[in-house]
Amino acid sequence: MKSFEAVQHYFNRAADKLELTENMRTLLLTSKREVQVQIAVEMDDGQLQTLIGYRVQHDNARGPMKGGLRFHHEVDLDEVRSLASLMTWKTAVVNIPFGGAKGGVTVNVRKLSLRELERVTRKFVDEIHDVIGPDTDIPAPDMGTNAEVMAWIMNQHNKYHGFSPGVVTGKPVEHYGIPGREEATGRGVGILALKTLGRLGHKAQKTRVAIQGFGNVGSHAAKFLQEADCRIVAISDVSGGYYCAEGINVLEAIQYSNKNNRSLEGFAAASRISNEELLELEVELLVPAALGGVITADNAPLINAPLIIEAANAPIRPEADDLLNDRGVVILPDILANAGGVTVSYFEWAQNRQYYRWGLDRVRQELDRVLSSAFEEVWNLAREHEVSLRTAAFMLGIGRVGRATVLGGIT
Ligand code: GLU
Repeated sequence: MKSFEAVQHYFNRAADKLELTENMRTLLLTSKREVQVQIAVEMDDGQLQTLIGYRVQHDNARGPMKGGLRFHHEVDLDEVRSLASLMTWKTAVVNIPFGGAKGGVTVNVRKLSLRELERVTRKFVDEIHDVIGPDTDIPAPDMGTNAEVMAWIMNQHNKYHGFSPGVVTGKPVEHYGIPGREEATGRGVGILALKTLGRLGHKAQKTRVAIQGFGNVGSHAAKFLQEADCRIVAISDVSGGYYCAEGINVLEAIQYSNKNNRSLEGFAAASRISNEELLELEVELLVPAALGGVITADNAPLINAPLIIEAANAPIRPEADDLLNDRGVVILPDILANAGGVTVSYFEWAQNRQYYRWGLDRVRQELDRVLSSAFEEVWNLAREHEVSLRTAAFMLGIGRVGRATVLGGIT
């Protein structure tokens, strides 16, 4: 099943419960606009390279479209389309006034120099600047992009359209960004993990956690959960997995990775395991925080964790989702679990539009408030309709988008 088909599958399951007509399903699933552009750049060695970039704008019934930009060698239109639609349901689940979009460039960022990365970014903006904007579509960081890339996007967009910091979020704090945006997705994962553990009767102190992926999301989630007394027994990145039954010192691992070109390769304070072994560990909580599609029908039966928090977008394939649900494994779905990032993006956008500075305490407090109320709504809906948390989250999101669409007038 391809990425978009997988989202469609989850969508239809919730749409059945909501008794949506076929016509309404088609309307809600179809992207408003899909843009594919050529990015021709000169590399440092003088060679010309032609890359492909995408921006998929899925839905704007509830507000300007919003979603990250992914720079990764596996990016294709199907993936960007699926991620754009996930953003629509995600912003609706946490009830922030945005629609959904996503963008990407098919490129291996690890092979680019800093200046090449900047040229790719600026050239991409040259191609899409007319379709993005603070009232239409607002990009943000995702896999392979960061605050610096967002600063270039703002700068390049403003050359065409004048000063407008709200055209992109996730900017550096010193450059129209907001404190707490960088940690927001991981922190949100941590907040929601503790809430779910609490509901399931687990104490944080007794919780063993395995986290796949130690980028921005995975490392901040690990830090938050360790501060809450959970035991982070395993972490991993592209270099492999690292296991320590007594618990890994997360701050030490973060420092090590930062010094080591953002890689855990050679991290000696834990024993080596593979990324696959990490998924199968005896833990109370498993957090996939890396690529999509890592939990499949093949490895789902080997997963021992009773609770999975989807920090990554779409880490579980639908066939695996069914197998895990049948075994009673609780899954907090991506469209709620990793919504902390876009929530703080909303605060940043609001701050940019108000020319008013928010402090870190306020950001954290409001993030907690937004995620807690979305969690309550999804949890209660799941119980009321006797469905999984994923189906409940989709029902909540689709319901909100559907109502806004109808109220706005369709034809
Ligand atoms: N890329 C992040 C996501 O998938 C954040 C998007 C945003 O802040 O707009 O949710």
